[in-house]
Amino acid sequence: MLAFAEFADLCESLEQISSTLEKTARIAAFIGEIEDDDDLYNTILFLSGRVYPEWSERDLGIGIGIVYEALRISTGIDRREIENLIREKGDLGLSAEEIVGKKKQTSLFQEELTVKKLREVFDEISNLSGEGSQKRKTILLSELYISCTPIEARYLTRLILKEMRLGVGEGIVRDAIARAFGIESEVVERAYMVTNDYGKVAVSAKNGGRDALLNMKITPHIPVKMMLAQVAESIEEAVEDIDNLGVEWKFDGTRVQVHYANGKVSIFSRRLENVTNALPEIVSEIKSRVKEGVILDGEVIAVRDGKPMPFQHVLRRFRRKHGISAMVEKIPLMVYFYDMIYDGEEIIDLPLEKRRERLINSVGETEMLRIAKQYVTRDPDEIRKIFDEAVNAGHEGVMLKNLDSKYIPGKRGKNWLKLKATMETLDLVVVGGEWGEGKRSNLMSSFELACLDEYGNMLKVGKVATGFTDEDLEELTELFRPEIELQEGKRIVFHPRYVFEVAYQEIQKSPKYESGYALRFPRFIRLRDDKSVEEADTIERVARLYEMQFKGKV
Ligand code: AMP
Repeated sequence: MLAFAEFADLCESLEQISSTLEKTARIAAFIGEIEDDDDLYNTILFLSGRVYPEWSERDLGIGIGIVYEALRISTGIDRREIENLIREKGDLGLSAEEIVGKKKQTSLFQEELTVKKLREVFDEISNLSGEGSQKRKTILLSELYISCTPIEARYLTRLILKEMRLGVGEGIVRDAIARAFGIESEVVERAYMVTNDYGKVAVSAKNGGRDALLNMKITPHIPVKMMLAQVAESIEEAVEDIDNLGVEWKFDGTRVQVHYANGKVSIFSRRLENVTNALPEIVSEIKSRVKEGVILDGEVIAVRDGKPMPFQHVLRRFRRKHGISAMVEKIPLMVYFYDMIYDGEEIIDLPLEKRRERLINSVGETEMLRIAKQYVTRDPDEIRKIFDEAVNAGHEGVMLKNLDSKYIPGKRGKNWLKLKATMETLDLVVVGGEWGEGKRSNLMSSFELACLDEYGNMLKVGKVATGFTDEDLEELTELFRPEIELQEGKRIVFHPRYVFEVAYQEIQKSPKYESGYALRFPRFIRLRDDKSVEEADTIERVARLYEMQFKGKV
């Protein structure tokens, strides 16, 4: 059985290695030695910073508050001291390590913590719900802290808060599995694309080698990463690059992947979260109008009087856990389907043209369920006309698609190009904020924004205080309240969990922020609840947009 201490040692050594190749080699050597399937599965997931695959309905539901309380209970150190330490270290993992190191009671005959034991406790925590569950979670977590060594406490804390920060991205996990079991990276990646679970892929690779991976297929009710789009420089360039060109409206909504098989519908968001329960009217419409045994790709939009409502309304529906039927009335939704990846069998290798034929054969269109109209044309004037129509109808622009291309899950490529009406916005992590003044002192009034470096560190680029309606600020205050890590006067530090899309007038070079850049006149566009923190924009993109300003391309 794998000791959690061994896993923590691995993490510590990975933190000290900066070379990707060395990291990969170190992980490959470690996982190649693991004999037990469950230990291998858990190690892969934990290294990726997850307790459950991102699409799983299961979650620990542990916020900062529970961590503070569990640390207090397990060490006897009071909350103020814990907060001071966090302020000093600026990192919860390191703080937990020090706190556990200082702990007042040490038991001599401490049982060794194993990866399996952690899994058991995590499963128990994720099964808890309802009254008393927070308390029980706190107790279970404090028991874990009691059996932790300081270094284990560092990684336990980071793991439950989904902040491993080991610089172990999907590419490294893929290559480490490939190397550990002697299989080409492409084969490992393909298996991942269709299962979305590197833990499962690693166990299959260990037990059945290359053939087992080649046999892994898309399965209904397990989401597949979605194909993504690249920015088109211009219509002319797209026409030049793509021979067989299909033009569709770029709908201003949010992505969904709809699975309908075995009498059941599952709907996943762009982040592959299961949002089925929030969309009952769509589920029942699909059951009556869609052929069974399919996986469809499309966009959900909110509509009122035939016009799309702002995209936040759709996300409001997605987030809803209670009072769903009232929301069905208040925010009516519809879906535009534009692709299909499963039709009784995986069809991602068929060209888009063929997938679309199958899509048309599978969906009986209604007011609520539509198939996105597609225009096959390479005439720039005609494309411009379609673009104007889309924008006039309240949508974002157009998508230019290569009709000969395969569906490549999770990849941003030249086969789907997006052409938007507005200037490129930035998706930034909200890392801090400020309370308002006077009458508004109970509302947050501004938010600090950061981009990411290649290791996932957050680098500040500015502060946004405009573009919010009163309703936005009320909602955001409630949303961010549980994420408060520290407060000093009016200033707040958040646990990084949410992403804002912001527009700005200009990007400037500035020594004021650690990123070296500052946004001039940033304006809030929307909460990108469909994006995880890891998907926020990078410093590289900020630098590129900065450079592009001088080329007149923005
Ligand atoms: P962006 O989020 O700006 O990278 O743009 C890509 C997104 O546009 C996709 O993930 C979809 O959610 C959305 N989208 C809207 N209409 C379409 C369409 N017709 N085809 C593909 N994606 C679309």
